[in-house]
Amino acid sequence: MTRLSPGATIGVLGGGQLARMMAQAGARLGLKTHVFSPVADDPAFDVCAARTQADFLDEAALAAFAEAVDVVTYEFENVPARTAEVLEAHRPVRPNPRVLALTQDRLVEKQFIRGLGLSTAEFADVRDPQTLADAVAALGRPSILKTRRFGYDGKGQARIADGGDLAQTFAALDGAPCILEGFVPFTKEISIVAARGIDGEFRAYDVCENVHEHHILATTTAPAAISAATAAAAVEATRRIAEAAEYVGVIAVEMFVVRKDETEELVINEIAPRVHNSGHWTLDGAETSQFEQHMRAVAGWPLGSTQRHGVSVTMRNLIGHDADRWPQLLSEDGTCLHLYGKKETRDGRKMGHVTRIQR
Ligand code: AMP
Repeated sequence: MTRLSPGATIGVLGGGQLARMMAQAGARLGLKTHVFSPVADDPAFDVCAARTQADFLDEAALAAFAEAVDVVTYEFENVPARTAEVLEAHRPVRPNPRVLALTQDRLVEKQFIRGLGLSTAEFADVRDPQTLADAVAALGRPSILKTRRFGYDGKGQARIADGGDLAQTFAALDGAPCILEGFVPFTKEISIVAARGIDGEFRAYDVCENVHEHHILATTTAPAAISAATAAAAVEATRRIAEAAEYVGVIAVEMFVVRKDETEELVINEIAPRVHNSGHWTLDGAETSQFEQHMRAVAGWPLGSTQRHGVSVTMRNLIGHDADRWPQLLSEDGTCLHLYGKKETRDGRKMGHVTRIQR
């Protein structure tokens, strides 16, 4: 089975805003979405054709879900290995579950990227206070200690600065297996959002330039203000990663740009095996949104044009009570508002986003 027909059902693991926007994009093309999430009031449940509220390790629920869908995809990378294994016995899982194993563990991910001849921050495996002390001696300060698994939006990270107590820092991350990363003196953070189809077709959007505030993405601007050569190298690196992983779907690769004299160097930070916050601008600012592109790819359909509208596009996240400004945002011509329908507003929670196209 390679190409689904309109009317087919795509199963999505996770019910957050990414799953919600996938379901909305799929519906436009006549594709149904069945959302599987343990969280009763998840925003994707409002807009999908079918739902399963169950734990990701509930094997009976997983088997019934798999039987009800034509293909399975996911909106987050921390899908348990067992979940993917149970589903794969019934239906294709796209992107393939080996991609999950690669991207769930920062050490494995960095080794994979290095194995392709691409650059990453210097890194060392940290298992206990002694291996941390050895790693800090080798990589110097400042450096960044990150848990190998389950980190997001700066969680599971600690900066190792001058004079800090290493044993305490390690204990603050609950003694979990970690990697230490050398500090990258970057000038910009960028990401490449791209898609690979079932036949190997590869299409990338314009390079995204990202600004974080309090470890959370605040704005994305496309195209990034980098040289054409750097942009081409960033896309090529993403293509190699997607090909090596036999990837199907939308992929995002976060990178640092380091300026050395007059040249720009790329350092790959991490791979997201899914649609990505830095690609939200494509909903209003590109011929095919990243969500539609992902649904097309996992359905085995031809990919769409990634051509940008306008001179540039900016996306701003609405975090926590930023979203309370919705009446004002709605009254601004040229501002496209997206709200995720989350029941409760909390500090640091992504409630929506706005895009503006410069014509
Ligand atoms: P991550 O969770 O790996 O995406 O890291 C979150 C943010 O921390 C990044 O977007 C960077 O702003 C910063 N950061 C992460 N790793 C490094 C590094 N090795 N050197 C400098 N800054 C980093």
